[in-house]
Amino acid sequence: MKLNSLYGNDINILNVDAVMSLFTTNNGVRALLFVVCLLFLFNIIVNYFGYKNENESSFSKLRKIHNYTNTNGDNGVLYKIAPKHSLDASIVLISSTSEPNGRLVSNTVESILNSSHNVYSSTNLFTTSQITFPECISSSNEEKLFVPNVTLESLDVVEEELGPLLEPGGFFQPKNCTPKHHVAIVVPFRDRYAHLSIFIRNIHPFLMRQNIAYRIFIVEQTNGKPFNRAAMMNIGFLEALKIYPWDCFIFHDVDLLPLDERNIYSCPRQPRHMSVAIDTLNYRLPYRAIFGGVSAMTTEHFRKVNGFSNSYFGWGGEDDDMSNRLKHANLFISRYPINIARYIMLKHRKEKANPKRYENLVNGINRFEMDGINSIKYDLYSIKYFPMFTWYLAEIKVSDVTS
Ligand code: UDP
Ligand code: MN
Repeated sequence: MKLNSLYGNDINILNVDAVMSLFTTNNGVRALLFVVCLLFLFNIIVNYFGYKNENESSFSKLRKIHNYTNTNGDNGVLYKIAPKHSLDASIVLISSTSEPNGRLVSNTVESILNSSHNVYSSTNLFTTSQITFPECISSSNEEKLFVPNVTLESLDVVEEELGPLLEPGGFFQPKNCTPKHHVAIVVPFRDRYAHLSIFIRNIHPFLMRQNIAYRIFIVEQTNGKPFNRAAMMNIGFLEALKIYPWDCFIFHDVDLLPLDERNIYSCPRQPRHMSVAIDTLNYRLPYRAIFGGVSAMTTEHFRKVNGFSNSYFGWGGEDDDMSNRLKHANLFISRYPINIARYIMLKHRKEKANPKRYENLVNGINRFEMDGINSIKYDLYSIKYFPMFTWYLAEIKVSDVTS
């Protein structure tokens, strides 16, 4: 088919001869300059859109701006996530935007982020040089208290201190031995910036002494729907495995800080509930089946129980639902002794409990197979490899949220 029959005969097609006459040998230099200018212009346009996307959707630094009180009532320093290419402090904090559905970026940006994520996914984190080192020994019987530093500091300052000791994305591996455990620490998160800074400041020094390879994953839920801790942990699990085949997952509240260095962050033969004795609960286990706060599961066990339920919006129930799943799969909750598995909890306001949590728990027993990592649908708005942690901004997709 001829071009003019496809587009219609009346289309004014450029006269090719006339155009070509501009590029005679006499005008060769001009033609070359023309092409260079075109490339230059193209570059400017691409950069412009690149920066624009960065401003809208992805972030490079958590900056200290000024004193503030957040919605949880904890006073401190405001951590504003500022876009990489802008010093404009007025750009809204991403997790506090009032978009009703929490949707922050366009599909185009989303797909760009997703494609860059795929590039990252192929990163090989463990170098072959490790093979020559002996296997690391993680256990320690010697009593050694860990004294958390709970002074609030800007993440910039913490980063100056810890950044050089870590690999991008908040990854650490022992230098002189081959780690036995490859642990993904998954932290569900929303609007607890002061806690995040204190958590990061303490958890890295604590874990670096444990002779394990680990990486911190912060999974932030966008605004709009009630917080879904379990869904954030499922997302953390699925996304972290795209980076490396971790053998162990530790799901960690952002406000809990360990107090004893014998509390090794690994996954034993049975799932392990780690936060046994918390100061706010008088350092006592509230009930036997508890599995909230900090808990460790092998990748295999987490898959076996289909992860957490995605149905718990608002506070409560999701950890007990996991406890039921473990029981159902004939797994047992193991624990370190009460004098080792000690934590302090940073202060925060009590979240509004989900009134449907008991009803969900009863129904949940029949839904293990269809509600979990095999059924979760979510949007990932951003992925960032900050120096001290890998950060995901996500939202679970559900048509009807009943909290
Ligand atoms: N969380 C959060 N933002 C919220 C609610 C919860 O980041 O608005 C996360 C955070 O990691 C927190 C965990 O979910 O530590 C458990 O929530 P919370 O601390 O309110 O529960 P509780 O202390 O009552 O167990
Ligand atoms: Mn808490």
